[in-house]
Amino acid sequence: MVLKVAIIGRPNVGKSTLFNRLAGKKLALVDDQPGVTRDRREYDIKFGDLDIRLIDTAGLENASDGSLQARMREGTEKAIALADVTLFLVDARSGLTSHDEELAEMLRRAGRPVVLVANKTEGRGEAGAYEAYNLGLGDPVAISAEHGEGMADLYQAIRAHVPEDGMDDEEDAETLEWDDPLKPLRLAIVGRPNAGKSTLVNRLLDEDRVLTGPEAGITRDTISVEWSWEGSERSWPVKLFDTAGLRKRAKVQDRLEKMSTGDTIRAIQFAEVVAVIIDATMPFEKQDLQIADLAAREGRGVVIVANKWDLIEDKDETAKALREAAARLLPQIPNVPVILMSALTGRGIDRLMPWVTRVYRDWNAKVKTSDLNKWLEAATQKHPPPAVGGRRIKIRYITQVNTRPPTFMAHCQRADHLPDSYKRYLVNGIRESFSIEAVPIRLFLRKGT
Ligand code: GDP
Ligand code: GDP
Repeated sequence: MVLKVAIIGRPNVGKSTLFNRLAGKKLALVDDQPGVTRDRREYDIKFGDLDIRLIDTAGLENASDGSLQARMREGTEKAIALADVTLFLVDARSGLTSHDEELAEMLRRAGRPVVLVANKTEGRGEAGAYEAYNLGLGDPVAISAEHGEGMADLYQAIRAHVPEDGMDDEEDAETLEWDDPLKPLRLAIVGRPNAGKSTLVNRLLDEDRVLTGPEAGITRDTISVEWSWEGSERSWPVKLFDTAGLRKRAKVQDRLEKMSTGDTIRAIQFAEVVAVIIDATMPFEKQDLQIADLAAREGRGVVIVANKWDLIEDKDETAKALREAAARLLPQIPNVPVILMSALTGRGIDRLMPWVTRVYRDWNAKVKTSDLNKWLEAATQKHPPPAVGGRRIKIRYITQVNTRPPTFMAHCQRADHLPDSYKRYLVNGIRESFSIEAVPIRLFLRKGT
């Protein structure tokens, strides 16, 4: 397979230099002036035994019209969405700037694989990369693009993101990862303290494998357990991440009600599907919504578990109210499943995994380009894009550029003028027509003529 690798970073950190080093020849103009290169370039290269399509964003800062910031941002977001792995370059000599922080934030929100690269560390190796740890994007790889240092480490870091089976994204749905029985579905169980996470995890695993006591060798890390769930069509290996164990540890240190946000974020970033456990007797408190919103913004599949259902008296009324509240409060994932259960009694618990696997399938969904464009034609006929300055905006073509979550690119004239409401109309249309229900859908516009 060809691994798509984007190189991003603020101006002058050495993107073009690295690009040229990887490409093995002087392809792009490199200069001391920020932003001398103009276009986004893509080149197919070999890095060791890896087939890589390099996406370089070096020219984006040079846009002369429109809001520079906005355009750079848009271009960078697109590159990240298109790439299988993004190399995020920072300059270890000049130190971190607010621009680096902004890009780091954008990457965190995109929730896609990132390799943090500290450039210009020649002669200093890892010591030079120290500051980059502060970005919270994992361990930086120290390199010198100019002197060719650290290339083996960079290779290893990129290599780690190649799917084990070399899965090719261009192929049919049959070859998607969820059909690979060896690769576990990564599920995170998150939620406020006392929502019932530990109780649920213990029940799911059907034994006390998850540590519930305050002592007993509780690790610093979010607790992960692998197990296999027997679905009706097949069995699913599942790797479960549970933040509850950590909270129990915090309890020992007398921080009873403090949820560890950092751990929740880590669990979400690790996961493919996130189960947000809420207490049905006090549903959708601020923290619940923050967690669900974060998971959706990170591009994860989401299910809501309304736990402690045994305590609810008027079950019909409450169920209706919960579903309405979920749709209203989480507009990015309008059809998010709300699973009613009691982890304590075990009632309703068998509905969790069928929903999780269904959401996982949606998250991996692939729509054929021909079907998409048939749909687009009908959708734009039924409800044409608005006219701006007397001319109708035309959307010519749409393709799916990525999965996990489903990401689409529409080629659009005067894309800047397309209102957000129309984008929402398109996203909702894709959601309904191709039944991609409970996962975030991303839509990018590419300017065309
Ligand atoms: P871009 O704007 O991110 O594409 O950055 P460039 O690749 O144009 O590099 C900006 C400047 O940093 C140029 O003067 C490069 O020669 C210099 N540079 C790039 N890599 C290194 C490196 O590893 N070490 C040092 N000292 N300078 C570098
Ligand atoms: P965690 O902090 O999210 O891990 O929550 P726990 O699993 O430790 O549960 C917190 C409290 O809620 C415990 O006293 C549980 O017994 C109780 N609990 C958990 N699930 C249920 C449930 O479905 N119904 C009822 N009535 N209580 C529950």
